[in-house]
Amino acid sequence: MNEKNIVIIGGGQASSQVATSLRQKNCKGDITIVSSEAYLPYQRPPLSKKYLSGELESERLYLKPEKFYQDQNIKLMLNSYVEEIDRKNSKLIFSKLEDGEGTIDYDKLVIATGTSPRLIPLNNPNLKGVHYLRSIDDVEGIKKSLINAKNMVIIGGGYIGLEVAAVAKKLGLNVTVIEMASRILERVTSPVISSFYHSYHELQGVNILTSTSVDGINGKEKVSSVETSIGSIDADIVVVGIGVLPCQELAEKSGVQTNNGIVVNEFCVSSDKNILSAGDCTLHPSPFYKKDIRLESVHNAIEQGKTVASSIMGEFISYNQIPWFWSDQYDLKFQIAGLNSGYDEYIIRGKPEDSSFSVFYFKDGLMISSDCINSAPEHMMSRRFIFNKTEIDLEKLQDKNISMKEVI
Ligand SMILES: Cc1cc2nc3c(=O)[nH]c(=O)nc-3n(C[C@H](O)[C@H](O)[C@H](O)COP(=O)(O)OP(=O)(O)OC[C@H]3O[C@@H](n4cnc5c(N)ncnc54)[C@H](O)[C@@H]3O)c2cc1C
Repeated sequence: MNEKNIVIIGGGQASSQVATSLRQKNCKGDITIVSSEAYLPYQRPPLSKKYLSGELESERLYLKPEKFYQDQNIKLMLNSYVEEIDRKNSKLIFSKLEDGEGTIDYDKLVIATGTSPRLIPLNNPNLKGVHYLRSIDDVEGIKKSLINAKNMVIIGGGYIGLEVAAVAKKLGLNVTVIEMASRILERVTSPVISSFYHSYHELQGVNILTSTSVDGINGKEKVSSVETSIGSIDADIVVVGIGVLPCQELAEKSGVQTNNGIVVNEFCVSSDKNILSAGDCTLHPSPFYKKDIRLESVHNAIEQGKTVASSIMGEFISYNQIPWFWSDQYDLKFQIAGLNSGYDEYIIRGKPEDSSFSVFYFKDGLMISSDCINSAPEHMMSRRFIFNKTEIDLEKLQDKNISMKEVI
C-alpha cells in the first residue's frame, strides 16, 4: 500500500467504519476524518427512538470514544465543512474549518457524506417549531419545541415519521401523521405491513391521514397549524420526514460521476480511482438484485465502509450483501431483509393480531425479501434463505409450529 494520506469526509457510520477497518488491516498511512458536525462520529438510529424519548444519553450515540481515535492515530477534524474537491491537485477546499487550516491534501479520498432531508417549501423558512430529523442538533431543537407542546403534526408516514409518532405519543402529545400516498410506508413495504402499522398506531391514539397533501404551514413566528387538502390541523410542533437526498454535490461539482448518489463499482471506487465512497450517498451495483441501488441503512454503511478499507489496502473484495434494516415503534421490533420490489407472491407466518408475524416475498419461486415483526429468528433465517436462493416449502413456511430450519 503506497497511499500515505487517507482523508474521509463524513462524521457518520460509514466514515467511522472505514477508519476503523483501515487500522484493523494494519494501514500505516495517515487517516483523517473530516466532519461538518461538532460531534464524534455517531449512530443515527436512536435519534428518532430512545434519544428523542430521553432514554439514551448523548455519549451512548458515539460509535467510539475519543480515546479510540487518539490511540489509533486517527485525526478528527470536526466542525469542518468541505466545499470543494480539487481533483487535479488532490486537495480539499473548506468553507468552514475548526482548526484554521486552509486546504488539506489527500492520496486517497473517501466520500461518506450521507444524505440530507428533503425540504418542504415554506413561506416563512424561519418559522419556529418546524423540524427535520437527521442530526443530534435536530433532536435538541425538537426537544426544545416539545416543552409545553400539545399537538404534534408529522408530515410523512415513513419510518422516521412513524418512529417519532410512537415517541411523541408516549410523551403524551396529540399526534397526527399526514401522508400523501394512499397508505403509510408505501415506498418501502407491502400493503399487509402498512395496514398493520396503520391500525397499531391508531390503537395507540395516533391520527393518521392518508391521501392527504400539505398545502402550507401557518404561524407568525411560531407554527400554529398545518394546512392540508382536507382542512387545517392545529400544531405547536411539526416534524417533517418526507425522505432524503444523497449528499453528492462535492462529487458532482468535481466531475465525479453521480446519478441519485455517487456512482461506485463493486469495490466502492468512484469514476476517479483515487476517490472511494461508502454509505447512504452511494449508488452501487447489487449482484443479487442485478441492478444499481442506493440504500439508507446502517448495515450498508458498515459493510461498504469495510469494502472501501479493503480496496484502499489493495484487497479488492466485491460488495455483495443482502440489505437489511430495522425500525422500532412502541414495543414492535420490525426487521426487514432484502428488497421486495417486483414480488409475485407472499406468505404470512404468524398472526398480525399477536403482534408477532412475518411476511415473506417471493419472485419466480425464490424468496427475495422478508418483513418480520417481533420475529427475530424468522428474520435471521430469511437472510440466509434469500442470499443462498434456498428452495422453500411454502406450506411449511406458513406453519409457525414448524421451525424455520425445517421449512426447506
Ligand atoms: C432519525 C434516523 C433514524 C434512522 N433509523 C435507522 C434504523 O433504525 N435502522 C437503520 O438501519 N438505519 C437507520 N437510519 C439510517 C442510518 O442512520 C443511515 O443509513 C446511516 O447513518 C448512514 O451512514 P453514513 O455514514 O452513510 O451517513 P451519515 O450518518 O448521514 O453521515 C454523513 C456525515 O457526513 C457529513 N458531511 C456531509 N457533507 C459534508 C461536507 N461537505 N463536509 C464535511 N462533512 C460533511 C455529515 O455532517 C454527516 O456527519 C436512520 C437515520 C436517521 C436520520
